[in-house]
Amino acid sequence: MTASVQLDKLIKALQIQPGVGPRSATRIAYHLLDRRRTDAVELGQLLVSAMHNIKLCRCCRNYCDDDLCRICKSPERQQSKQLCVVESPSDVEAFEQSNNYFGRYFVLHGHLSPIDGIGANELGLPLLDELLAQGTIDEIILATNPTVEGDATASFIASIALRHNITNITKIASGVPIGGELDNVDQKTLASSLQNRRPFK
Ligand SMILES: [Zn+2]
Repeated sequence: MTASVQLDKLIKALQIQPGVGPRSATRIAYHLLDRRRTDAVELGQLLVSAMHNIKLCRCCRNYCDDDLCRICKSPERQQSKQLCVVESPSDVEAFEQSNNYFGRYFVLHGHLSPIDGIGANELGLPLLDELLAQGTIDEIILATNPTVEGDATASFIASIALRHNITNITKIASGVPIGGELDNVDQKTLASSLQNRRPFK
């Protein structure tokens, strides 16, 4: 507890961020008060505006300012028949930065997790179902995380795609990082890369 009720509240509020505990939150609060008051006011205004105004794209569920995100607005992307399904908006950014994929996306904002009450509706799967029913997609790339939950989610999405007669369904490979050394790779990743090996070209 500090000498100020408001400061106590600020320290508590800062802890909503992952990885920020009481000690870090206290440090941040003092830093903002001591040195960055103007920037902190701007940050506060930005937070309010972002939380009120950033929406989900009606087509892919990525974050956007209007109804459609920047990617879905692009005529080239609209014509693509590839759909890459990811767990989070940051995954979209990662693919975009790799500059190697020019299709469409669908963002789940998580994975199936019945214990946490996250089912098909929470992941926007009725919207995905509608999108696939339009017949404009002929390839699904499953890019969920390589975890038990991510794989279960991928299987569920594959079953939706099959219902729409989309049979070109792939899952992104997991394996050895480029430029890495084999003895630094964990056993599961190495096993997966061996299992998913492909002909040498
Ligand atoms: Zn979009």
